[in-house]
Amino acid sequence: MAEESLSERLERVRERIGRACARSGRNPADVKLLAVTKVFPAEVILEAYAAGLREFGENYVQEMERKAAAVAGLGGARFHLIGHLQSNKTKKAAELFASVDTVDSVKLARRLDAEGRPLDVMIEVKLSAEEAKSGADAAEVPAIVEAIRASANLRLTGMMTVPPWSEDAETARPYFATLRELAAKHGVTELSMGMSNDLEVAIEEGATWVRVGTALFGRRRKP
Ligand SMILES: *Cc1c(COP(=O)(O)O)cnc(C)c1O
Repeated sequence: MAEESLSERLERVRERIGRACARSGRNPADVKLLAVTKVFPAEVILEAYAAGLREFGENYVQEMERKAAAVAGLGGARFHLIGHLQSNKTKKAAELFASVDTVDSVKLARRLDAEGRPLDVMIEVKLSAEEAKSGADAAEVPAIVEAIRASANLRLTGMMTVPPWSEDAETARPYFATLRELAAKHGVTELSMGMSNDLEVAIEEGATWVRVGTALFGRRRKP
């Protein structure tokens, strides 16, 4: 069987988004697609841009740094950091990304603000008890919201969460619903939740961003 092209895979992802929106009475224009290009070379970003994608997610500051020159000419392309940010990398992050979607502490918010560049941010919330995962505890969220709103350079656009991995997308539903409620409580409108295997459930629960890697670009090889 011939390998599917990126534009064919993109069409299928858009169909999935469209069906989930239709089921839940939502407008597909309210669900933005973040193309997750981590591990893939810069050429894949160029190809995705040519296919019409403009919003990209990368997980590592250093990897973005390596790709930055190759993608510098892509007018209107915006890069989001969706991996954990160490506080000693805030300078580079503020230079390389239009949005840092993984702010998970007051300290990190203050450091990013101190870099002196206008930057969109989301708060990453950890809603499961998993040890390894990054993200703020729900109890820390009010202080982080306050720190961002009091900052000079950061604009709080949304909240992001990554539920525990499961084959069964339904297991993610309560985490998505909890993020929606938490964001509403703080007047935060964008919800980044849902990936290749569970984007439908996320959309049903109110996602305004879905972060899709595998369904667009195929399986990632270990770097
Ligand atoms: C890798 C990654 C994704 C994309 O996951 P897929 O299952 O490949 O769609 C989304 N969000 C985050 C935070 C990721 O690290």
